[in-house]
Amino acid sequence: MNRDDREQELLLQELAKCRSCRFCVDVCPTYQAFGGVESFSSYGRMQIVKHLLNGVLELDDALTYCLYSCLQCRRCEVVCKSKGQNLDICELIQRGRRLLSDRLVQGGKHAKL
Ligand code: SF4
Ligand code: SF4
Repeated sequence: MNRDDREQELLLQELAKCRSCRFCVDVCPTYQAFGGVESFSSYGRMQIVKHLLNGVLELDDALTYCLYSCLQCRRCEVVCKSKGQNLDICELIQRGRRLLSDRLVQGGKHAKL
């Protein structure tokens, strides 16, 4: 198992801790700005990362935009913590971005994560 594979496994383990309660979604400024499109929310971005890693989704410009439009403001994390789950949402999105960019460099625009 190479370093990327290990990182993918660890990231999926962290993402699996999300209980899909969606309490964090409403406070996300980009979710609000895009008129309530879940792909532009904290929860939506974590789902995108998970499904890219699992190969359910294929990387394209729209999904890349969803991930990179996160402002890293941490408003979602405050809510997640208050609900008892305390996920490092910003870090998880960042790690998804990092894997994404690495795969882009290695495999071209439409490479699967
Ligand atoms: S509040 Fe936390 S556990 Fe709930 S959906 Fe958001 S990230 Fe997942
Ligand atoms: S850190 Fe990103 S996902 Fe979380 S509330 Fe801010 S813009 Fe939304």
